[in-house]
Amino acid sequence: TYLRIGDIIPVATHLVLNSIQDGVIVADMQGRLLDLNPVARQLIVGHDSQEDVIGKSLTQLWPAGVSLFEPEDEANGAHPIEITTDRDGEVLQYEASRSIIRDVREQPLGYVLVLRDATQRKEAEHRTIELSLERERIRLLSNFIRDISHEFRTPLTTVSLSAHLLEKRTNPEERDELVSRIQSEVINITALIDSLVTMSRLDSGTPIIIEEVDLNAVVADARTRMEADITAKAVTVVLELDPERIYVRGCQEDLGLAVGNILHNAIRYTPADGQITVRTYRRPDHQASIDIRDTGAGIAAEHLPHIFKRLYRADDAHSSTGFGLGLPIAQKIVELHGGSIEVESKPGQGSTFRVVLPALPGD
Ligand code: ADP
Repeated sequence: TYLRIGDIIPVATHLVLNSIQDGVIVADMQGRLLDLNPVARQLIVGHDSQEDVIGKSLTQLWPAGVSLFEPEDEANGAHPIEITTDRDGEVLQYEASRSIIRDVREQPLGYVLVLRDATQRKEAEHRTIELSLERERIRLLSNFIRDISHEFRTPLTTVSLSAHLLEKRTNPEERDELVSRIQSEVINITALIDSLVTMSRLDSGTPIIIEEVDLNAVVADARTRMEADITAKAVTVVLELDPERIYVRGCQEDLGLAVGNILHNAIRYTPADGQITVRTYRRPDHQASIDIRDTGAGIAAEHLPHIFKRLYRADDAHSSTGFGLGLPIAQKIVELHGGSIEVESKPGQGSTFRVVLPALPGD
């Protein structure tokens, strides 16, 4: 005996369909199931036997795959669609391709759906993305550590040098001068550590305390805390507070820190006899605004886009006492409150920092 090709093909097809890892579904143009292999049966109907499902509507058997059974066009060829099926709480990703079967007169008879499990590929893609994000985080962190080490080194060098001289000098005035230099650098280092701790708390996503905060009180408190700097710099700070109190939802202490950092800059970067005006008001769009305007040196256009970056300072000599963390901290706090900070500044014309926050409705 010998087998004819016509006998072999159905047997071979059956064997192939039963052994492959892809799900194969054959349906007529009305979406009635004509045949399916074990992988497809497992996927769409669980353990039901073949006989129970043949001839039934695919839309009813497998609602998750409904988009695949409604051929919008009768175009032949692969038609890749991504679907997500949820069985036993497990989310599986499949990639389906649909081919229309036609008779000799090109009339569509039905279609074949091939379903390929893409879960593992998706997971691998996801892992690759996670990995590159992780690498990016590590890169940013190590750059930050490198830069911050530099910030510590400068005051520590001064401390070490002053201590060294202190051992040698006998003149009491000179010694006093060296001691106060050490003390002031220790204050700087402590401030740097405080800023880093604050930054990391804000970065860590720890929820902020939520209470009703009176913006006028935030401004008045910040000003009180800065009284010594205001006197030392001989600048005037004028408060123009909205007579109607404006409340926002958030953390009073953090908002005080944000406004304090901006006010502190205004004081630092404004020469003696200069004036700083802090205004609170409700905007026509119902947002609250705190404007901190100074008559200082202003910020050059080339620096303006960078002043909110960590460790950025507009003066290249790094002669100012700051570490370039005041504005990033202020911005982070304001953003955590759903707000934003705008800056207008021109060299020689002073700067205005505007903190905009979502206000609670007034009476
Ligand atoms: P720093 O502690 O160095 O002040 P900030 O993050 O608070 O760091 O500010 C970043 C930079 O922005 C400052 O170094 C300064 O050059 C510039 N800057 C901030 N506020 C003002 C201001 N009111 N007037 C002029 N320059 C300012």
